[in-house]
Amino acid sequence: MHIAVIGAGLIGAAAARHLAKMGHQITLIGPDEPANFANHTGVFGSHYDEGRITRSLDPNPFWSRVGRNSIARYGEIAREGDTAFYTETGCAIAGPKDSPLIAEMAKTVQAENITCSTYQDGEISTVLPMLSFPAGTSLTLEPQNAGHISPRRLVVAQIAAAKRQGATHLPQIATNITETAQGVRIAHASGHVQADRVLVAAGAYSAALLGLSTPIDVMQRTVVMMQLGPDEAHRLASLPSLIWFDSQGIDCYMLPPIRYPDGNVYLKTGGDRVDVPLRGAQAITAWFKSGGDTQVAQMLLQATRAVLPGLQVASHHAVPCVTSYTQADYPMIGQLSPRISVATAGCGRAAKSSDELGRLGATTVLGQPLPDWAKVCVAP
Ligand SMILES: Cc1cc2nc3c(=O)[nH]c(=O)nc-3n(C[C@H](O)[C@H](O)[C@H](O)COP(=O)(O)OP(=O)(O)OC[C@H]3O[C@@H](n4cnc5c(N)ncnc54)[C@H](O)[C@@H]3O)c2cc1C
Repeated sequence: MHIAVIGAGLIGAAAARHLAKMGHQITLIGPDEPANFANHTGVFGSHYDEGRITRSLDPNPFWSRVGRNSIARYGEIAREGDTAFYTETGCAIAGPKDSPLIAEMAKTVQAENITCSTYQDGEISTVLPMLSFPAGTSLTLEPQNAGHISPRRLVVAQIAAAKRQGATHLPQIATNITETAQGVRIAHASGHVQADRVLVAAGAYSAALLGLSTPIDVMQRTVVMMQLGPDEAHRLASLPSLIWFDSQGIDCYMLPPIRYPDGNVYLKTGGDRVDVPLRGAQAITAWFKSGGDTQVAQMLLQATRAVLPGLQVASHHAVPCVTSYTQADYPMIGQLSPRISVATAGCGRAAKSSDELGRLGATTVLGQPLPDWAKVCVAP
């Protein structure tokens, strides 16, 4: 069967690899990363970065499972795509010990048999002496099969692996999808692709491309990139990826020091306190070109300094990105028709789990039912 996959991002590239390995003829349609955000007039993706947290540790059993299933295949993807993208630094989640989220996480840790250790208050500084939290904090550390991935290099690996299995990558923006008696016709700026079926995995732009009636909320996100000098990068080198929250509205995450393509080492923090929705493709594109929200960046700097006392930042800058959510907080994976399927709305957790979400998208476009545990996914 000839299957087109729209969106050469995290979920689309994963779906392309799975479908190509099953022996289908695959055309992956989607542009490469723009060289310059400010001049770019096309679509954007949420994978233009070097750091995304990966973990099985999650309060929600579905998100824990898709993470775990993907992590189990990281080695295979790196080998097949000849590109390394995963760094095992471990991942920690910290919050008030009496909070419902910490209780949910403890339940999922037990039910899903996740290997990790939990520390309270003073015990935390014995394992992570650089970090400081208020009294009453509980921290759970998943030391193995957790850390961070380069989403940029994961996409490169998935596309290379898919191509090795015979897939074609067409770096075009799909502008229209029409269902015909013979299959589907996907228009792009230089022509069209005729396929038997299509899987749309166009990230934040999926709803605009398909005209979906089921709501997907695309939220603006700002991260702050803190450049570290060599001594500070060395001092913080053993940090795990970290997610931390408190009862005052802080809900942040931080990647350990990572070297970026500009040669500098950055500590990256994110965690907008307010969800600002972006309505329509034009608003999404304008946000990516905006440079991000400097007030959010200031808040993130302050929050990071609170957990990392003595942090020495050489310089910092804000970067914009977006995340897409369904109201149920599960991805949208399903069929619009026997020929048109969709896999999108990563709910801020689809980098680490993109390989499994892509596999579920592949299942759907082939007309097969999702496994029972994945039936929480939202139908389009
Ligand atoms: C700041 C930030 C931090 C995050 N941190 C984490 C984290 O720590 N861990 C984690 O697991 N997840 C994290 N995420 C979420 C994760 O990055 C997203 O869930 C993931 O990128 C979604 O994958 P996707 O394939 O749906 O979309 P994308 O990765 O955005 O890919 C969509 C692709 O579709 C393409 N496209 C769009 N329109 C068209 C069109 N018309 N035709 C062809 N192609 C098109 C785009 O160019 C893009 O390449 C974070 C997200 C943000 C913004």
